[in-house]
Amino acid sequence: MRSESFLHSVESNFDRAATLLGLSSDLVEKIKIANSTYVVRFGVRLRDGLQTFTGYRCVHSEHFEPVKGGIRYAPYADQDEVEALAALMTYKCALMEIPFGGAKGALTIDPREWEPQELEQITRRFTQELAKRGLISPSQNVPAPDMGTGEREMAWMADEYKKLNPTDLNAWACVTGKPLGKGGIAGRTEATGRGVQYTLQEFFRQERDVKKTGLSSGLDGKRVIVQGLGNVGYHAALFLSQHDGCRITHILEKEGAIVDSRGVDIAALHEHMNETGSIEDYPGFTKSGIEMLEAEADILIPAAMEGIINQDNAARIRTPLIIEAANGPVTAAGDATLRDRGVVIIPDFCANAGGVTVSYFEWIKNLTHIRFGRIQRRQLENQFEALIAGVEALTGKPFPVAHRNEVLSGTTEINLVRSGLEDTMRGAYSAISATWNETDSVPDLRTAAMMIAVDRVAQSYISIGI
Ligand code: NAD
Repeated sequence: MRSESFLHSVESNFDRAATLLGLSSDLVEKIKIANSTYVVRFGVRLRDGLQTFTGYRCVHSEHFEPVKGGIRYAPYADQDEVEALAALMTYKCALMEIPFGGAKGALTIDPREWEPQELEQITRRFTQELAKRGLISPSQNVPAPDMGTGEREMAWMADEYKKLNPTDLNAWACVTGKPLGKGGIAGRTEATGRGVQYTLQEFFRQERDVKKTGLSSGLDGKRVIVQGLGNVGYHAALFLSQHDGCRITHILEKEGAIVDSRGVDIAALHEHMNETGSIEDYPGFTKSGIEMLEAEADILIPAAMEGIINQDNAARIRTPLIIEAANGPVTAAGDATLRDRGVVIIPDFCANAGGVTVSYFEWIKNLTHIRFGRIQRRQLENQFEALIAGVEALTGKPFPVAHRNEVLSGTTEINLVRSGLEDTMRGAYSAISATWNETDSVPDLRTAAMMIAVDRVAQSYISIGI
């Protein structure tokens, strides 16, 4: 149904924001539609002979280059989805003040059906197709991992690109989300889940926003439902339970759910999943389905896929706060119902922007050819040592060990990455909160976030006379 399509959901939010901004209709049209979508069908000879695969790369906006966006491997990937995700990337980068345009790619494939060496052949062939058309390049188009892809696929893509461009000094910057040994950056794998945590922490600092949910202040003790214990869901659940005192009372996966009112041990469940390939047989397992999204809790974190909260179930969702870790988990119709009911939603292109933020840091690291903190770390350490010695000499007391370790742990790459990520996520959330609270005409956080993003894209066009 069109009203429930992913692209329609993104565009209807865009339309609402563009109307509130009062932009001219020709500029609105220019920003809204995707600049190009490339569809490729290519053959790879595998175990059962020649297999044909369909891949996509959509470039939504080139107001900044390179354009940026993940590549997902999913059996249901199609053009509507890729264009919706590419548009979200444009708005996400604009909201986060990351100087990239928006793009997204996909391969219609179930990665679990293929052996690693077959996936490698398919990925390398897909990379060749993208490279032929300038759809992967450090200066123009930089993919990253998404559903069904990770460090391994990014390493294959970077390696294939390097083979095709052996004299390109910046070749490793052609994709982000690479393993550390292949030009990756500390903290990229955890980044999206970590960003969800920082965003929620910032939400709970804004008392007027918390008040709208009817929740008590502070994250400590909050009951949380998480759908999808993949990269994003696992890290978000782990950090929120280990550092913020949240109780993850429900974990939904494909085969059922784990329910534990005391809070699921996320690390132990994840280990069980890695060992057995499923959450079945873990204490608290129940064979329930998507209706578990409607369980009673404080915060709902959809971290699996799009469209799972829609006109069929939105009226029954009981959590007063939803943070969209996945892209597009709430359809336009679902969104309208939840808005009417006063449910607060932190939108995807704010909440899950941690991945692209740290990808941006990785791209900069690749272009500068130096790890963050390498130049200044020891110099700062010496300065802090001198300061600590001075304090100890003045007071005649030893500097407390915990504080000493904290001060001296300073400028490692992981600390700098987390600091930059926290700053970006907190800054973005407080900006959308301010816009939401500024006037009654801004109905929700999603519209507020879209207004900020679209205004920035519009200004970049207006500044060159478009
Ligand atoms: P992933 O493949 O690592 O994990 C997805 C998880 O969801 C898997 O564990 C899968 O089994 C589970 N799942 C799939 N269908 C389900 C269903 N019907 N019910 C319950 N669980 C289900 O993917 P990911 O990288 O964690 O991405 C998840 C979402 O976050 C996607 O929407 C993606 O676009 C978005 N996202 C990811 C990143 C990133 O850095 N990986 C960044 C931004 C946004």
